[in-house]
Amino acid sequence: MITPRRTRLVRVPHLHAFRDALRALAANPETNPESRVPNPLVVVPTRAAARHAQRLVRTEADLVTRDELYDRLYARLASPPRRLTSLEREVLAGRAAREAASGEQLAFRLRPGLIAEIVRFYDQLRRQSQQVQRFEELLTEALGGADEAFDRGAERLRQQTRFLVAAFREYERLVTASGACDEHLLRTRLIAEAAREPIRRVIVTVADWIADADGLYVADFDLLSRIPGLESLDIVATAAVLGAGFHERLHQWLPGLEEIGIRDLGLGIRGCQPVLMIPPTNPQSLIPNPSDPWWTYRDREEELVAVARQMKADRRRGEGVPLERTAVVFKQPLPYLYVAGETLPAAGIPYQTVDALPLAAEPVAAALDLAMEAVSADFSREPLVALLRSPHFRFTHDQTEVTRESVSALDRALSERRYLGDPRRLEEMAARWPEGNPEGQRYKTESDATIALHAALSLARDLAPLAEPAPASRQTARLLTFWDDRLRQLDEGHPFSAREQRGRAAIRQTLVAIASVHAAHDDPEWSIDDLALAVRRAIEDQTFEPESGATGIHLIDDRTARYGDFDDLTVVGLIENDWPERPCRNIFYPPALLKSLGWPSEKDRRAAADAHFLDLLASASRRTSVSTFTLDEDAIVSRSMQLDEIPRARLSTIARPRDQQARVFVDEALSLDPPALAALDDDARRWADLRLSRSPADAPRFHGRIANETAENAESAEQDRFSQRALRSPRLALSVSALETYLDCPFKFLAQHILRLEEEPDDEEVMDPRHQGQFVHEVFEEFFTAWQDAGRGAIIPENLDAARALFTEVVDEALEALPEAEAGLERTRLLGSPAAAGLGEAVFRMEAERPVAVVERLLEHRLDGQFTIATAAGPRTVMLRGKADRLDLLEDGTFRLIDYKLGWPPNPAKALQLPLYSICAEQRLVAYRGRQWASGEAVYLAFKGPRRVVPLFTRPEQRARVLADAQQRLADAIDAIERGEFPPAPDDVWRCETCTFGAVCRKDYVGEV
Ligand code: SF4
Repeated sequence: MITPRRTRLVRVPHLHAFRDALRALAANPETNPESRVPNPLVVVPTRAAARHAQRLVRTEADLVTRDELYDRLYARLASPPRRLTSLEREVLAGRAAREAASGEQLAFRLRPGLIAEIVRFYDQLRRQSQQVQRFEELLTEALGGADEAFDRGAERLRQQTRFLVAAFREYERLVTASGACDEHLLRTRLIAEAAREPIRRVIVTVADWIADADGLYVADFDLLSRIPGLESLDIVATAAVLGAGFHERLHQWLPGLEEIGIRDLGLGIRGCQPVLMIPPTNPQSLIPNPSDPWWTYRDREEELVAVARQMKADRRRGEGVPLERTAVVFKQPLPYLYVAGETLPAAGIPYQTVDALPLAAEPVAAALDLAMEAVSADFSREPLVALLRSPHFRFTHDQTEVTRESVSALDRALSERRYLGDPRRLEEMAARWPEGNPEGQRYKTESDATIALHAALSLARDLAPLAEPAPASRQTARLLTFWDDRLRQLDEGHPFSAREQRGRAAIRQTLVAIASVHAAHDDPEWSIDDLALAVRRAIEDQTFEPESGATGIHLIDDRTARYGDFDDLTVVGLIENDWPERPCRNIFYPPALLKSLGWPSEKDRRAAADAHFLDLLASASRRTSVSTFTLDEDAIVSRSMQLDEIPRARLSTIARPRDQQARVFVDEALSLDPPALAALDDDARRWADLRLSRSPADAPRFHGRIANETAENAESAEQDRFSQRALRSPRLALSVSALETYLDCPFKFLAQHILRLEEEPDDEEVMDPRHQGQFVHEVFEEFFTAWQDAGRGAIIPENLDAARALFTEVVDEALEALPEAEAGLERTRLLGSPAAAGLGEAVFRMEAERPVAVVERLLEHRLDGQFTIATAAGPRTVMLRGKADRLDLLEDGTFRLIDYKLGWPPNPAKALQLPLYSICAEQRLVAYRGRQWASGEAVYLAFKGPRRVVPLFTRPEQRARVLADAQQRLADAIDAIERGEFPPAPDDVWRCETCTFGAVCRKDYVGEV
């Protein structure tokens, strides 16, 4: 039954008439007698739409979204109950769901995301005028009785329905008990109780929720038809949207609805159809290609670049319109707002937008995440260092602020100590920090890291209680205390300060709300993961309005576009899943069951989406163009099927060739020949001049060559210092392993040994290969020292067991320094298992199988100084540094050289260490123990690969050639280093896969190798 009031449907043919009708209806009675009542409430889909509609109506009309409509109605009640916030409702629903779950064996866990879905489902039911009782009856009937228990799917849905009904009832009980109201209780109250000053007139410009994601529900139309005091209700809709099912539904909900047309408002129908700009079949031709009336670009950026090009081309041809009369229309604002921030200013095109960005995308939100992440990860190195480095916080020790250098030193030091987290380890370290030899590098690193370590310890002490489960309100309050105490004071003059301030305030407000709502309504025990989930969800639900210009082209979504009067409209991003927008899926029931609860069919939704799209195409007064793209981030995407609806808009078309050649962006001013520096500002022009005067890109210095050129042409003191350092270093003794690196890749040698770039540390549960190599070398050194000190000579079959026993002792002692899990792994590797022999066994057997006795073992034996090598150009003296893993001096006057390789053995044709150590050892051991020593055997003891023992040469006649080749390789490498040649030229391109200098070596040159 409709109360006595004027309820009308205003049918308009298109969006031009829609805007005219809105303008006329919202005008005050003195300018339009039709209006009867001044200052109406106008319902629009979004805040952004409200801002644009305000420019249209220019009266005191109050433009509101659906939520704001409830706010306005609530505000006029004489003694309104308190309204629950959405956070309070979720907390009450969570408590209700736990109660309901206590009597059921649920097949799912009650996670925060699920609670939000329960609330959403409840709201939708109630907004569709369904009560919980009716929901229960309909579902129970549809799912059948208990005798159909053999159907496990149906039984699961029955159980879920019982749970949801119980949760909804409990939620309603809790809301009533709280004395406050939610939207549904408020609706009942608004219908039952007259307002102090009732709203007398409402104009609805949105469709229902089926045709419009931000539209009104059955319950809203019911409210507007029954609320006391409302004298006039006008619903404005285009013919296309009405024809897509909205007309039928409206008459069903509002029987007796009066219908009028645009002429009944005293308005004429404007005939201003835009022209559709389409790509020509042939880019050189102007003949339209009606079968493909849209543009296809690579990605969103290219779409916006095309918009900028078109605008510049229009201006050059004298066809431009004021920027404010142009709009780019999208479905999803976020990706376009980010891309536009880079693209349009680069083309010198100002833009304005009223769409909000998510608060979660603000850098300050990421700072809060760092704090929670540090606790979740038990303060392990990476998250701890990331938190210390965050510019949003200020960490101090003894009133001294932690510097970036100190944090970097801490990063290194923790990595060196293989710190894997746990504040207790931080405490232990801090008690003895710094450790080591005051002369050593480790001491220096730790000393530099002292302030950062103590700051880390202090923040860990503050945050560590969050790792223990505690009531939700207490956990949130602790996080809030950290937030308040540690935030860095803002520099008011900084350009980002205002935005940062707003972000901080929004986050603080969120934490305060979570803490107080849980303290008041429900305070379950939360782990750090529960806290992080709840905080992240609360932040994700909030948006943040960026500061946008007030002039320039408009960037708007399709709902807002209905309220804007534009000459040119570019509709972008027509990809599948966006156009039409996918409805939010119901996670509880399949569509067939939801239909019985009043959920719309996909057909109804699609018809309404197509109607809106067709309206949009004809919304501009001069030109429309439509585009799609193929690449979304890294994924290939399909075009929208709605593109096939374009011909139904019946727009005349005009083909336009792409304007690719003009310089539109600053980078094009520089990249197209000849560079046009006039487009740059003063600073940029100075830099550009400098860059243009630089040496050619193919100059050898840009390809890893640093020698003569830098020495001769050093242009600055800094460059000179660099060249001196680079050239001096190789003349010092070179380590043989470094020279092997040079042969692997000359640039890698430059990065590691001359520039001394540090590799990014990596935390692993187990030792990395470098640490593992050190550990294994130390174990064998320890063993052979003990073996030798005990007066033992060679390992022979008779004393193998004794060697094994001593080795086990040495290994077990060394393993005590390792964490338990890792010690187990290393024990198996060294001592073996029933399935495979260990490394020790391989080493002992190798020796036991050789008949000649060992006189002495030289362990980790240094071979430093001047040596003479034989090259094709004759003998040559070189300065070398090296350390042989093991030199066994044998009774027959030869020595056996052994190199442990934790991985695969090197390719003998490329290796340097064994052949050079053989030569160097022969020269160093002259007259040692009063005799000559000749190299007899050289082997790799490789712990990976098919063979453990890999000799450098297998036959005596190979020896001379292998050694000669290695000496020549060494001489060539030293010459190349002295010439300053360090091209990024790996001997095997696969080496780059694991190399850490890929980011600095310009390895695009590798392709030329
Ligand atoms: S990434 Fe490849 S080319 Fe670059 S330094 Fe490493 S090994 Fe050489």
